[in-house]
Amino acid sequence: MLNLEQRIKIAGVKVSPFQYIDGRRVLSKATFLNFSPIDGSILCEMSAADQSDVDAAVQAAYRAFPEWAALGSTGRGEYLRRLADIIEANAEKIAQVETADNGSLLAANLHFMVKRSAHNIRFFADWAEKLQGEGWDSNGIRYKVHYDPSGVTALITPWNAPFMLTTWKVGPALAAGNPIVIKPPEWAPLTCSLLADFAEEAGIPPGVINIVQGIGEVAGAELVNHPLVNRISFTGSTDTAKIIGSAAAKRIVPVSMELGGKSPFIIFADADMDAAVSHALAQFNNAGQVCLAGTRLLVEESIEKEFLEKFSQRAKQLKLGDPRQKEIRVGPLISQEHFDRVSGFVERAKREGAKPLFGGGPSKEQGGLFFEPTLFIDVPKDAEILKKEVFGPVLTFQTFKDEEEAIRMGNDTDYGLAATVFTGEETRGERVGQKLRAGTVWVNTYYARDLKAPFGGSKQSGIGREGGTHSFDFFCDVKTLSHKMGSFYH
Ligand code: NAD
Repeated sequence: MLNLEQRIKIAGVKVSPFQYIDGRRVLSKATFLNFSPIDGSILCEMSAADQSDVDAAVQAAYRAFPEWAALGSTGRGEYLRRLADIIEANAEKIAQVETADNGSLLAANLHFMVKRSAHNIRFFADWAEKLQGEGWDSNGIRYKVHYDPSGVTALITPWNAPFMLTTWKVGPALAAGNPIVIKPPEWAPLTCSLLADFAEEAGIPPGVINIVQGIGEVAGAELVNHPLVNRISFTGSTDTAKIIGSAAAKRIVPVSMELGGKSPFIIFADADMDAAVSHALAQFNNAGQVCLAGTRLLVEESIEKEFLEKFSQRAKQLKLGDPRQKEIRVGPLISQEHFDRVSGFVERAKREGAKPLFGGGPSKEQGGLFFEPTLFIDVPKDAEILKKEVFGPVLTFQTFKDEEEAIRMGNDTDYGLAATVFTGEETRGERVGQKLRAGTVWVNTYYARDLKAPFGGSKQSGIGREGGTHSFDFFCDVKTLSHKMGSFYH
C-alpha cells in the first residue's frame, strides 16, 4: 500500500509529492513529471489534482473558515509568527529545493528570497493586528470601517520565485482571516509542498492551508471556477489572467492580478554612470525571468557610446552555469518549452533587423537550458521584441534626445508594471517619475520594495494593488457599520 507520508529526497531534503488537503497528504489519480532546469533530470512525479481534489480542498477550507476567522488577528498572528520562524529555521532546505526546482541562484534564495518570505508572513500578521478601520461622526451618525474576513481564498502563483511569491499572498490572506487553497506552479511545485509541512509544524489547524498541485488548465481552472471561492489572488501571465478574469466575472469574485511587464530602464546623461550600469546589469538576474525587469534600456543620446562600452564589458563577465555555485550570476531558463519561446523571440528580433551587441542565442558552452545574456541594438521601432514580454535574459537598447522623448518612449508599451530612472537631478527624478505610467517607479535604485507600499501593475500588468492596508482592502470584505448616535438605551 502506498505510504502517504512518503517523501522524495530533493537536494538532500525530504519533500512530499502529494496534495495537502484538510491537514493530510492526499494522492491524486493523475501525476505529472517535475524536471530540474539545471540538468534536465527528472526530480519527481507529482500528484496532479483533478476536479474532486480541488473540491475537497475548497470544502476543507470552507469548513475551517469560521474558527480561523473567530481567532481574530491576535490569535492568527501567533500561528503566523510561528510559521515565519519555522521558515527561517529551514532557510537552507528551502533554498536548496527552490534552486533544484526552478534553477534560480542558491545564494539569492538563501540570503534574500527565504528571508523575504518569512518577512512577508510576519509583516502581514503584525499589520492585521494594528489595522484600525477609520471611524467618524457625521450628521448624528457614527461610522466605523471594519475589515471582515471574506472566506475561501485561491492563491495562484508562477514558477520564477514560487516560495517568496506564495508567501506574499499567504501572509495577508491568512492574517485577514481567510483559509486558503494554493495552486503552485507546475514547473516548480516543490517549495510549496514544504510550506505544508511547515504549516503543520506551526500547528495551523487542518483546512486553513490547502495545496493543490497540478496543471494550470486543470487544477487552476477548477479552483477559480469553484462556487465556494470568494477571492482569487493571481500572479502570472497576462494571457492566463484573461482566462481567470472571465471565470471570476461569472460569479463577481474579486480578483487581484499581478502580471507581466515590458518595463523601461531610463538613464539620463547626468546619472551616476557606474551605479546605472550596475543596476542595469541586474536586469539579467534570475536569467531575466523577473516580472519587474527593466528590459527596455533607454539611454540619453550623448552617453550612448560610454554606456554601451561599460555595460557590454561588464555583461560579458557575468558567469553562466550551475546556480548552486557561488560565482555564477546567470542560471538556466525554467523549461524546454520556455527556452524555445525565448529563442523564438530572439530569432524573430534578428529577422526584423535588430542586432545582438552581445549574446543572441543559447549558450554553446553550457548547453541545456542556458541562454546567453543578450542586448539588442538597432531595434526597428515596431519590432516585436520592444513590445512583448520575453521573460528571459534579453534586453533592448534605444536612445532618446530629451526628457520628453524619454517619457514618451517609456510609456510606449501596453504594460505598466514598473519603470526605473537614473538621473543626477532630484527634481527631474520626481518629474519623470510622476509622468511614467507604472505601478512602481524607482529613481536611482532598482527592486527596492517595502511591504507597506502598494504593489501592482497598470494597463496590461494587472488589476489592483497589494501591500500594507491595500492587501486587506482586497482580502477582506470591507464594511461600514453606521449607527445613529444616542439611540441606545442600554
Ligand atoms: P502562467 O500564467 O503561465 O502561470 C501562472 C500560474 O497560473 C501557474 O500556477 C499556472 O499553473 C496557473 N494557470 C495556468 N493556466 C490556468 C488557468 N486556466 N486557470 C487557473 N490557473 C492557471 O505564468 P508563468 O509562466 O508561471 O509565470 C510567468 C509570468 O508571471 C510572467 O508573465 C511574469 O511577468 C509574471 N509574473 C508577475 C509577477 C508580478 O508580481 N507582477 C511576479 C512574477 C511573475
